[in-house]
Amino acid sequence: MERKYADIIIDISHEKLDKTFQYVVPERLWEKVEAGTCVLVPFGKGNRLRKGYVASIGRQAAYAPEKLKEIADVEENAISAEERYIALAAWMKEQYGSTLIAALKTVLPIKQKVKKLERKSCRLLLDAGAAEELLRNCEAKRQTAKARLLKELIRAGELPMPLITGKLHISSQTVKSLEGQGALEVLSESSYRNPVRITDHAEDARMEAYKRKKRLNGEQQAAADGILADFEAGRRDTCLIHGITGSGKTEVYLEIIEGMIKRGRQAIVLIPEIALTYQTLLRFYVRFGDRVSVMNSTLSQGEKYDQCERAKKGEIDVMIGPRSALFTPFSRLGVIIIDEEHESTYKSESMPKYHARETAEKIASMQDAVVVLGSATPSLEAYYRAKNGKYKLYELKQRQPGKELPSVSTVDLREELRQGNRSIFSRKLKGLLEERLEKGEQSILFLNRRGYAGFVSCRSCGYVMKCPHCDVSLSEHAGGKLVCHYCGYTRPGVEKCPECGSKYILGFRAGTQQIEEAVHREFPKARVLRMDADSTRTKDSYEEILNSFANGEADILLGTQMIVKGHDFPDVTLVGILAADLSLHVNDYRAGERTFQLLTQAAGRAGRGKNPGEVVIQTYDPGHYSIVHAANQDYLGFYEEEIMYREMLLYPPAAHMLAILTASPVEEEGMRLAEKIGGLLKESGGDLHVIGPAAASVGKIQDIYRFMIYVKHKDGGRLVEVKNAVEAFLEKRQEMGEAGKETVQFDFDPLRSY
Ligand code: ADP
Ligand code: ZN
Ligand code: ZN
Repeated sequence: MERKYADIIIDISHEKLDKTFQYVVPERLWEKVEAGTCVLVPFGKGNRLRKGYVASIGRQAAYAPEKLKEIADVEENAISAEERYIALAAWMKEQYGSTLIAALKTVLPIKQKVKKLERKSCRLLLDAGAAEELLRNCEAKRQTAKARLLKELIRAGELPMPLITGKLHISSQTVKSLEGQGALEVLSESSYRNPVRITDHAEDARMEAYKRKKRLNGEQQAAADGILADFEAGRRDTCLIHGITGSGKTEVYLEIIEGMIKRGRQAIVLIPEIALTYQTLLRFYVRFGDRVSVMNSTLSQGEKYDQCERAKKGEIDVMIGPRSALFTPFSRLGVIIIDEEHESTYKSESMPKYHARETAEKIASMQDAVVVLGSATPSLEAYYRAKNGKYKLYELKQRQPGKELPSVSTVDLREELRQGNRSIFSRKLKGLLEERLEKGEQSILFLNRRGYAGFVSCRSCGYVMKCPHCDVSLSEHAGGKLVCHYCGYTRPGVEKCPECGSKYILGFRAGTQQIEEAVHREFPKARVLRMDADSTRTKDSYEEILNSFANGEADILLGTQMIVKGHDFPDVTLVGILAADLSLHVNDYRAGERTFQLLTQAAGRAGRGKNPGEVVIQTYDPGHYSIVHAANQDYLGFYEEEIMYREMLLYPPAAHMLAILTASPVEEEGMRLAEKIGGLLKESGGDLHVIGPAAASVGKIQDIYRFMIYVKHKDGGRLVEVKNAVEAFLEKRQEMGEAGKETVQFDFDPLRSY
């Protein structure tokens, strides 16, 4: 007789998710019970009925079947926060292919015992006369630190500790010593951590600027009003705000959030981690004060959990953060805003490989909220849907008066070479840089590439230095050492080609360090700041570099793509893009889109202040449509050309694509499984476009071999069916004891190449 068994989660808390209990699914419930279903099961002493959630269903009993209990019933009317998580996780499991447990771990806040945060301050204990006397005493003894602290305490009475040890540069020893003399006491008060640490910067001039509420221009007002009116009328279509760089999208978000709060609703604002700077936070904080919180990777697990608790209790109305802030447990959610929606960081790199845009739409539909997307360079996906009437489109086409878009010119580097200019700067860019240095204005140089140099190859025989564990070339770093960017493998540089012995084995020198040296050579007086993955290893260094550039401590900011993300530097009047086409030469159907986005965003950094901006795009491929349309700042022109190509080749968004990655430490086993899956797909219907299996473009990472199959179809639902069929096949293989060490991952509409 056929039987079904269910693995059930009884306790929905993060650390107990891995503990499941097996039950028999009685035949009368077969139709109703699936992964994610809320059921009632006898549990513990006396077999009291408890709620549980189905993690997975199988046909194998893990114990003697006669010892297993039966599921009593299905709980039909479940709607608590926990149930919402389960429903969402079940949807993610189905949509993206992962276990329910992995999906639950993604959506549930990690519970962790947290030490309550102590907020310390100092209070003066002496009366005015005694304090003055002590102060004179300290001054006479030249105890300057003590004197400084006393002076401030006499003025203020009480001061927060971070101010004393920070701004006033007074050591805790000095505080202790005065405490010992009975002059002051240290108070401490515990509270929830509020990661928006704004108080230390209260006098910040920028804060004053943000405090003045802006009068929205016509386009901004129309967008905010339209979105709120639709919400009021019960319409919940996703909205796309396509606003050129600097058009004031953030002001529109603030207006929408204010409208939501007035209606008793809450807001989640997703911002790419890299753009989530102090400056950005400040704009939300001055508007909504303590009702705002932030979630980002610099927070500890405990701090993150605190923020979720505050959200659950309704202590905050606005949560700002990267992708994972999507799962903030608000109970009155009104809007999810996704800023810079085209960013690839909105797609998860680990299972389940969910996209924030689609997941936000799912969450919004579950909670009667609306999704608002914003970008200067919308993803093809979002714009395609706007064009097809699935999304509502709002356009912001103007910057503030006097801050118009910069003028852009393109320079053909092949022509420069023909004219005998071997420098990395074209004559035009060099001239404009000199002008800026003379006038004391700032410039940005953008290089679309990481590290000191690219791969190291032999000029005699063509041999390329590769990582022995991963199938990728090694990058040359400062000091000549060679590094693998996949696994971190490092080795010293080589003097002779291991293959032919030639000494002409060299790095392809076009990294940021190389360019920094070139800038120093050509402009010896310029003050240069460099920002790339190597100069921003530590938590705060990224923000430090941005701040010192914003404060005018350098003339030129040189960096990789991290400098183009939504920063506002009013004194920048020149942006130079050094080798615009580098990002075109990657083996990925999105290369054109990514190049257009990078160039447009980089160009948008110029001319945000009182002086107009100029942009120079240097390229070996000036006729490429991504470069031509970026130079003209013509999104629509780019979109039309790009979508034609996607339609012709059936790439997303014109069709959907499922990448199936099979990996194994044993090459033949991985290949055999990939071939079996490929055969299964070819049998399952002629409507599928199957590509592969073939070795992935990075065929080996950390000694694990990788094989790819791509499946394309117009209908995304059909691809979910395909995934389910592959999952069923793998499960059966497991049950038959045929599975080895292979793993299989799914990626729907992948944003990366494998
Ligand atoms: P985006 O997010 O579209 O790049 P921002 O919202 O950062 O643009 O706005 C760019 C600049 O213009 C900011 O300095 C902002 O304060 C300013 N700004 C935006 N809207 C207005 C407005 N209606 N009135 C005055 N200044 C504005
Ligand atoms: Zn060689
Ligand atoms: Zn490696």
